[in-house]
Amino acid sequence: MWTDKQRGIRLSQQKLMCKNSCGYYGNPLWNGFCSKCWKDRARPAEAHRQDARVTGDGTPPTFSKFEEKKNLEKGRRVNTMRRLFWGTPSPPKPESSDSQMKVLKAYQMLEPGDFTGFLKILRSPSSQRLQSRCTAFLNTMEAYHDLPIQKHSDLVQDFYQSFAHYFSSFSDAELTQTMEHVEKLIMTRLHKWVFCHDSCDDEQKDLTLQRRIRSLNWVTPLMLGVPFPEVQSAITGDPFLPAITAIIEMDAKRAPQDKLVCVSKCSQHVFEALSVSNSEPANADDFLSALVYVMLKANPPRLHSNMQYVIRFGLPHSLMAGETGYYFTNLSCAVAFIEKLDGPALNLSQEEFESYMRRGQASVVRGGRQDAARETHRLLDELTERQEQLDRGVGDLNVQLRTWVQAVHTQIDQATSRLTVAQEELRDVSSSSSSPETTTVEHLVLTDANAGPPDSDC
Ligand SMILES: [Zn+2]
Repeated sequence: MWTDKQRGIRLSQQKLMCKNSCGYYGNPLWNGFCSKCWKDRARPAEAHRQDARVTGDGTPPTFSKFEEKKNLEKGRRVNTMRRLFWGTPSPPKPESSDSQMKVLKAYQMLEPGDFTGFLKILRSPSSQRLQSRCTAFLNTMEAYHDLPIQKHSDLVQDFYQSFAHYFSSFSDAELTQTMEHVEKLIMTRLHKWVFCHDSCDDEQKDLTLQRRIRSLNWVTPLMLGVPFPEVQSAITGDPFLPAITAIIEMDAKRAPQDKLVCVSKCSQHVFEALSVSNSEPANADDFLSALVYVMLKANPPRLHSNMQYVIRFGLPHSLMAGETGYYFTNLSCAVAFIEKLDGPALNLSQEEFESYMRRGQASVVRGGRQDAARETHRLLDELTERQEQLDRGVGDLNVQLRTWVQAVHTQIDQATSRLTVAQEELRDVSSSSSSPETTTVEHLVLTDANAGPPDSDC
């Protein structure tokens, strides 16, 4: 996919495209094909039938595909699931009543990215059918969560297709926006069931990739041919830091599109950093080299799982075309490059490369031990400081309590003496005359007697 020349990674733009020359982006995870061609190869019999019906723009006809797949896949369990989704063996036909038109209009009127607005319309009575389909689908997927991961992926992709059919009157932009909401709704809930699924070895591959990246911690921007500022100022630091942060955040997102947003953000930061380090505009080679550097620096958590998740459950158009497709394909190429990285790719002899790898490992182990010791020291210091703070707090509290008890005693004494005076006055008054003026003794007693202890901040 790339050749090593004088500087860094060389990758012709043509190599980013699907091997089938269908016009979509390919991906190393699909052996260089786009997701559609890859699926067609994986299921040749089915693909053969589909090809006959593919429309002019390459979009697969949703329902015919669905029906054929239904006939092809004899798995009893899966057929049961489909009946559960639709109530019939075939998906429902979109309605065209007035209320239906109104609800479609409401979806069309949504502002881009207004997921809350989408949920509001979906929960409205006129959207009842769509809503119950979503609920039924989610419940069934959860109930059958032990199916193989590929089955989950197929079912979710089928669900997207049938849902997209419902909005077939929409423009491309409106449909994309609506489907992104549908994806977010479905995958936010299914994430915990299908991410790092038991039926696949994603977790193992994550560990392998993570170890591989750690073992390459000695690779410098210069070796990769990444344009990098000669001197990093204390303020700016690594110009690729925003890109590193963006890609690390990917693991925390649940919807595939939100993970893709992190990939896009990371890529845009890479371009920005390159424009700072470089007087000329960044080219595709610089971008890929810099992306490799960012991946090596970031070592993003569960990178393999995250990419597989996006591939299995993301909307096909966001992976095969457009800016997100371009960035995701580059990310996959960067990961494939890291997996295969050797001396020549870094302009090093094989011996030099191996020697770096050995030293890298040693420094990783040494660094790991030093890090652990530093961390223990830091924790101990923190603990000591907290203990001292606690001691100080307890001391303060004791002083405050003593002061309060004294204050209460003084107040009681004062109140008692005032009571005695008042009683005497009362006696005097009642004995000398029968004045109607009465003094409320209780009032006198209670004044100032209810002050509590001062607030403590311990
Ligand atoms: Zn293709």
